[in-house]
Amino acid sequence: MKAKPNLKIFAAVLLAAVLALLLFIGRRHTDYTYIEQNGFAMGTVVSQKLYGGTAEDAAAVADAVSDLEQLLSRHLDNSAVSALNRTGSSESAALAEIVTDCLDICTASGGAFDITVGALCDLWDFDGGGHLPDAADIAAALESVGYASVAIGGDAVTVGAGQKVDLGAAGKGAACDAARAYLEESGVRGAVVSVGGSVLVYGARNRAGDKWRVAIRHPRKNDEFLGVVTLASGCVSTSGDYEKFFEEDGVRYHHILDPKTGYPAESGLISVTVVCDSGLLSDALSTACFVLGKEQGAALVERFGAGAVFVDADLRITTVGNVEFSQ
Ligand code: ADP
Ligand code: MG
Repeated sequence: MKAKPNLKIFAAVLLAAVLALLLFIGRRHTDYTYIEQNGFAMGTVVSQKLYGGTAEDAAAVADAVSDLEQLLSRHLDNSAVSALNRTGSSESAALAEIVTDCLDICTASGGAFDITVGALCDLWDFDGGGHLPDAADIAAALESVGYASVAIGGDAVTVGAGQKVDLGAAGKGAACDAARAYLEESGVRGAVVSVGGSVLVYGARNRAGDKWRVAIRHPRKNDEFLGVVTLASGCVSTSGDYEKFFEEDGVRYHHILDPKTGYPAESGLISVTVVCDSGLLSDALSTACFVLGKEQGAALVERFGAGAVFVDADLRITTVGNVEFSQ
């Protein structure tokens, strides 16, 4: 008879534990608690808005972006891309995968997007403020440009003699893909992760599953928006002539180069936004379309089943394909 009260206490404690566990599990799966974190990687601001995530999740997303920077950055001596540019070859499965995806877009864009523009980028030095190079130096650097000399064999990537690979036009989008790979394994309900001009929207931010709204910067008015892209999930990347540029004798020289001429692209577009599932694709396509211009850019976007918002020099807006855009 003495054991009875003990049994009751035990049963009560067990019940309380089970209830607490159920409450915890329930919370984890219905809670949209919002946290925000900002950091810096890939030479730009990385901002996260997580719904139903923890500080550990935010740290893991930041790590995923930094890990990719360690692989892709030309400015880090021990990155796989730096090794590739130094020695002409690299053995990295992760790099081989990204270069393979990039080569598809190099081909599809007819070389408007070309990852071998590294020597040209060095010459213009937009990361260091930029300056107008001598025409002879541009002609010499152009000799090393040509994605057709890049080869993939298993995990190995090789480039032609003197070629310099620059993944600046696809890296931030690829970072969005890396962030999503983590989020899919986590308990995070919804997220917006922006890495410079590439934005990932993932999952849901509330029980209603409302669509996400991503604002696009006005290409000529700092701190103003041009409009909003609405989407359920995916990536939104913008390439513009206002990101990195300098002016000389009234001419604007910006960081998106035409691999055919070696000079900043002059296609009549000043901002291109591309929307699709893949971050790498949206980033690379936005650069490619910027170089190609409205007509050929539209054909490229349609070919990949993506959507786009083009802005021309008169601030005229054209939407293409699968995109919901409002002003
Ligand atoms: P951002 O880096 O501002 O997001 P982009 O995605 O358009 O803009 O990438 C521009 C960067 O890509 C340049 O800074 C340079 O490193 C590289 N780049 C420039 N022109 C090209 C091109 N035609 N093809 C591939 N990469 C390019
Ligand atoms: Mg890009």
